[in-house]
Amino acid sequence: MAILSINIDRLRRDIDNLARFTRGPGPGVTRLTFSEEDRAARAYLRDQMEAIGLRVVELPPGIMIGRLESTTAGGPAVMAGSHIDSVLQGGRFDGIVGVAGALEVARVLVDNQVPIRNPYEVVILPEEEGTSFGAVLTGSKAWVGQLTSDRLGQMRRADGVTYLEAMERYGLPASGLDAHRLHRGRANAFLELHIEQSVVLEEAAVQIGVVTTVTGIRGFDATLVGIANHAGATPMARRRDALAGAAQLMAELERFTPTLGAHTVCTVGQIACSPGARNVIPGEVRLSIDFRDIENLDVKWAKLASYLEEIATRRGLKLALGQVAGSEPVSLAPPLQDLLDGIVVRRGLSGMRMPSGAVHDAQIMASVTDVGMIFVPSREGRSHCPEEFTAPPDIERGANVLLDAVLALTSA
Ligand SMILES: [Zn+2]
Repeated sequence: MAILSINIDRLRRDIDNLARFTRGPGPGVTRLTFSEEDRAARAYLRDQMEAIGLRVVELPPGIMIGRLESTTAGGPAVMAGSHIDSVLQGGRFDGIVGVAGALEVARVLVDNQVPIRNPYEVVILPEEEGTSFGAVLTGSKAWVGQLTSDRLGQMRRADGVTYLEAMERYGLPASGLDAHRLHRGRANAFLELHIEQSVVLEEAAVQIGVVTTVTGIRGFDATLVGIANHAGATPMARRRDALAGAAQLMAELERFTPTLGAHTVCTVGQIACSPGARNVIPGEVRLSIDFRDIENLDVKWAKLASYLEEIATRRGLKLALGQVAGSEPVSLAPPLQDLLDGIVVRRGLSGMRMPSGAVHDAQIMASVTDVGMIFVPSREGRSHCPEEFTAPPDIERGANVLLDAVLALTSA
């Protein structure tokens, strides 16, 4: 058979159309799980998938699947997809490139009447960003059984509605969660095309990233306790200033983290100072610490933590670190990395293997099936903002790699 390719005009039209399903006003895309915008985006995707003969179902916890049946015996599905929820005022490409790319691959299979041994499924996942219910990867975790129904009943959005309530209002019964859980054996691969959300590909002038590992995370709440005191009457040498200590801690974090490894990153994203008055030396500061790496997280964090404690002690402050979140690094299936590498070469593209510093549903899907992940360049590494952009030729190349991978995995 001649080499098949995706149609970038159709794919761009899907991306443009999906960008319209946003909560206005405001720049960028805001599409929250189970909102009216989400419902409209799903209706659009359902129409597009049904128009080419896919059988579309929606299941608890909010998964949408468009299935193209095998032309022969059947067997486990080859899945491709991503998420359609967004951050507040995010970009048009995050998640959507993987969803629209998977849909476009289905169109190519149907248009060309490609015989497929395994069914092909376009998979659309909810609440990847955690914007509404506070935790990333919620949809995929619930689907594979890593989040229980009880837990979904405790996760609330700002208006107090729980995930389960919002899901039921959307039309999916909570009672169906167990029956529709994704078990090992249902799929023999999950492929996710995604924007890189960093500058590695762009700076290396490489077209395709083949993801090797998705980063692991340790999230901590740090509390630094000093002594609140009079801002006028306390000499500088006698102070136990928690905020000045926090400033030093943050500066040292920035300096020390890169010494732990090429892929080690650490971020303080939240800070609260108490009592927070102009004329009082700060007595207590609370910080969030987000620590990520692709290997040996606990060993590296222990080094960093003991260094931070040393700094606090030197300043006469007490540091308490409590872990609030954690996920392990996940290695993606080596055979699929090899497959994707081979496709990149055969298509005459430039490619490189790389870890993902951002979390993705792919890492959760890896608990039940082999996972392959394809990155395409992000302009200036911008993401989760209205400026997020990936050039159409880059999207086209990525979607063609996805197409070839699906063909290789489903071919009769
Ligand atoms: Zn994403």
